[in-house]
Amino acid sequence: MSARTITLLGATGSVGRATLDLIARAEAGAYDVVALTANSQALELAEAARRFGARFCAVADEAAGPALGEALAGSAIKWGAGPQAVADAAAMEADWVMAAIVGAAGLQPILAAVRRGACVAFANKEALVCAGVLMLEEAARSGATLLPVDSEHNAIFQAFDPAQRRHIRRIILTASGGPFHNASLDTMRQAGPEQAVAHPTWSMGAKISVDSAPMMNKGLEIIEACHLFALPQEQVDVLVHPESIVHGLVEYADGGMLAQLGCPDMRTPIAHALAWPDRMDTPVERLDLAKLGALSFFAPDPGRFPALGLARNAFIAGGTAPAVLNAANEVAVAAFLAGQIGFLDIAAAVSEALDEGARAAGASAAPASIDAVIEADAHGRRLAQAAVSRLAR
Ligand code: NAD
Ligand code: MG
Repeated sequence: MSARTITLLGATGSVGRATLDLIARAEAGAYDVVALTANSQALELAEAARRFGARFCAVADEAAGPALGEALAGSAIKWGAGPQAVADAAAMEADWVMAAIVGAAGLQPILAAVRRGACVAFANKEALVCAGVLMLEEAARSGATLLPVDSEHNAIFQAFDPAQRRHIRRIILTASGGPFHNASLDTMRQAGPEQAVAHPTWSMGAKISVDSAPMMNKGLEIIEACHLFALPQEQVDVLVHPESIVHGLVEYADGGMLAQLGCPDMRTPIAHALAWPDRMDTPVERLDLAKLGALSFFAPDPGRFPALGLARNAFIAGGTAPAVLNAANEVAVAAFLAGQIGFLDIAAAVSEALDEGARAAGASAAPASIDAVIEADAHGRRLAQAAVSRLAR
């Protein structure tokens, strides 16, 4: 079997590193790394590029270019700096692309990979939230395959039989509930970044960890699921499941449910996408159900977690609303991490931005081009910035 050629966008992040870990452990010759990208971590990127024999690597941050060049001196590895260099990496011929850039910054490079018909492993959910329609249209045109890596969506992908689509009643995304699933509103109001980032079950990058605390991550995942599985939001449910063992479920017409289970380790869904349609070994801890004994599930509390409703409403509103939701959330999370606003203000700022955006745009059409998405994203950021200024203590 010839090697699967691979490009990793966001190679230095939590998902990127886990992917490289799996590649390092795979059978020799199974994978051939073409390109690696990062934002500014030049040294880590150069080291990975040398270790995995990449042909090209790129940092999005221009200022990190010289350090990357220096770290690659004496090697045959080509490099670039700036957002275009990252998009160039994505456009290089490779069978499989891991989309693990965090946030809307992933839009252009991911689209470049989709447009050339690659098999794209989607960790980045933000690109689907703000440009889901566009991504799927481009994939249909180019023949690209979209593989869900987000653990819930990967689970559902495995349990969702497309041939039985008309018999599928709903899908269920599980949520750990984050660090505040049992907390009072008062505790949540007082919470600082340190409490919000302390995820109880998963170890992840900072942004997604903060997103998990108000359950905005789950809100984004509802929209991500609607696009990936072509379902209306009413057929996408959320269940809080603090143990994070059952990752996603599909309910069929006969009353049966299919679920995928595993220890909370991203290497399982990443491995599923990396080896797909085959399977591969991983060093992930095995699930011992007898030792676990019990698993718990409960409905999320909409009062303490308004982000879920905000995301559903943004999806229903359609047009540019999901892009505004996502952009406003990125701004609000950054303001929270910088100590400018309180924890509950994250959802409040997003809500204000959505209301303002709806007033300005009326009923808008889904963005028809990447430029329109980027414009909606910028608009969402401005609206959220204004909301943050009002809410800032
Ligand atoms: P991370 O912050 O750990 O890593 C992000 C990566 O993107 C890094 O390599 C960083 O250098 C790069 N990057 C950041 N800004 C960039 C920019 N402007 N341009 C180009 N590259 C940039 O994030 P993560 O936790 O690995 O998450 C990556 C994506 O996967 C997110 O969209 C997240 O929602 C999704 N995801 C992550 C997990 C997880 O367990 N970490 C689980 C499910 C989904
Ligand atoms: Mg997830």
